[in-house]
Amino acid sequence: MIREIAPNVFLETELHGANVAFIVTGEGVILIDTPMLPNQARQWLSEIQQRTDEPILYIINTDHHRAHVIGNQFFPMATVIAHEHAWKEMKSYGDSFRTRLINMYRDRIPEAVAEWRKHLEIIKPEITFTGRTILYKGDKEIHLIPVGGHTPATTVVYLPNEKLLFTGDVVITDRPPFLSQGNTKEWLKALSYLRRLNYQLLIPGHGEPTGKEATENMSRYLRLVRRQVRRAYQEGMTKAETARSLSHLIRYWPIPPEEKPKADRRFKSGLGRVWNEVRAEETAKARAKAKAKKG
Ligand SMILES: [Zn+2]
Repeated sequence: MIREIAPNVFLETELHGANVAFIVTGEGVILIDTPMLPNQARQWLSEIQQRTDEPILYIINTDHHRAHVIGNQFFPMATVIAHEHAWKEMKSYGDSFRTRLINMYRDRIPEAVAEWRKHLEIIKPEITFTGRTILYKGDKEIHLIPVGGHTPATTVVYLPNEKLLFTGDVVITDRPPFLSQGNTKEWLKALSYLRRLNYQLLIPGHGEPTGKEATENMSRYLRLVRRQVRRAYQEGMTKAETARSLSHLIRYWPIPPEEKPKADRRFKSGLGRVWNEVRAEETAKARAKAKAKKG
């Protein structure tokens, strides 16, 4: 169901994939991410066109993951804007990306797969940024703030006048966060930055709109994971052992039924990523200590 969460800002949280939104600025429409499934993307386009005659100008992709970007192809009139790193990732989406997507959905959503087999074009960003960027369009002021953490490309979209914050996958509330391309230290920094912004509604990458407290919950969780992974590392566990022994931490989150088959595997790979990060931190610490001793 589409909700108008502020004047001329529309949100949909119930489609397959990530949350999507559009902003009618008075001089054109700006999309935040695009519906992943072809029929839902087409439906989204018609919902937009039922509400406004303004042209669709831009798509902001909050990161480069498939749930946020593969629907771009259904909005050929729009220019995609995203972080430079998202462009780099999307530029390499070729046959293996396509095969993985098709294999993942072949049994679950065959009609989407049939369409992707015929046509799957990754529409890359034409405008990229690496620092805070503001779009002034019509009566709207839209701040794109790269915060990283979830991926190096991850960008939040902040509307200071409407007091809205679209966090992308820095905050998600209805499933385990995807850690496999993340950096948890940076992620925690991003979350504490988000607590300093002024907004009334926080729209996560996945899940229902909420408030600032969702950033606290994410931080608590990431700190828990880091603490436990560090303990495992210090006890001498390998990456695989750590991932196995901490796989129960996934239960902190609900898991949507469609995510179930791959959730555990994904989660373990995420724990492996955190293990690598912790190892790098511990190695650097040990090195600094040895250096101090010597000096
Ligand atoms: Zn993501």
